[in-house]
Amino acid sequence: MLIDTHAHIHFDDFKDDLADVLSRARKAGVKKLLAVGVNDTDSERAVALAEEHDYIWASVGLHPHDADRGDRALEKIKELAKNPKVVAIGECGLDQYKSDTTHAQQEYAIRYQIELGLELKRPMIFHVREAFPDFWRIFDSYAGIKGVVHSFTATDTELQEALERGLYVALNGIMTFTKNSDQLFAAKRVPQDRLILETDCPFLAPMPVRGRRNEPANIVYTAEFLAGLRAEPKTELFDASTKNAETLFGI
Ligand SMILES: [Zn+2]
Repeated sequence: MLIDTHAHIHFDDFKDDLADVLSRARKAGVKKLLAVGVNDTDSERAVALAEEHDYIWASVGLHPHDADRGDRALEKIKELAKNPKVVAIGECGLDQYKSDTTHAQQEYAIRYQIELGLELKRPMIFHVREAFPDFWRIFDSYAGIKGVVHSFTATDTELQEALERGLYVALNGIMTFTKNSDQLFAAKRVPQDRLILETDCPFLAPMPVRGRRNEPANIVYTAEFLAGLRAEPKTELFDASTKNAETLFGI
């Protein structure tokens, strides 16, 4: 059994065949899913989908690319976060790689969401792209944050910084096709009790389906690849990552 902890299955990409996508996921052994929101209206859709299925939960948040939506969006997210099917806050974070929003807008939005997570005692799903020094500055100004760095593609340095702070690390299909040896080195070094898996579908389809629309069933390719990379028995890695996701999100 596997859990897809980061699936945008409420996106329009899946509107014509969601039932088939979900049935393929379950046949592939994906027994639980987290629909992760990226802004206020999108988070509302994630929550609605979670309410329709007992094996789907939602995370609500404002992605750094949407950080310019400001207070109105953040207040909506705060309201949605009180829904019992919402088990995390995010994705939220900092993206200095490619974004139309300013650093100040991103910092305002991540701080608001961290404070919401602390208030509601919910774990955070963080998106951090080429912004770790700023991210740690903000993170370290709070105590007691729980969460995961999603789509982790940084090096062992950032990995150790995340582990020291008690964070989980989520790996996805990027690992199956990256040629970056630092990323693969870090992927091997994630302790088994801190590793969780995700697809980030519809994006980032793993090998051998790279380039197509990604979907939760494809998490198996990533899990099998990582078991090989880390020289761990498949069932051991599958079970550990599932248990970690259940512990972090309380699902
Ligand atoms: Zn995502």
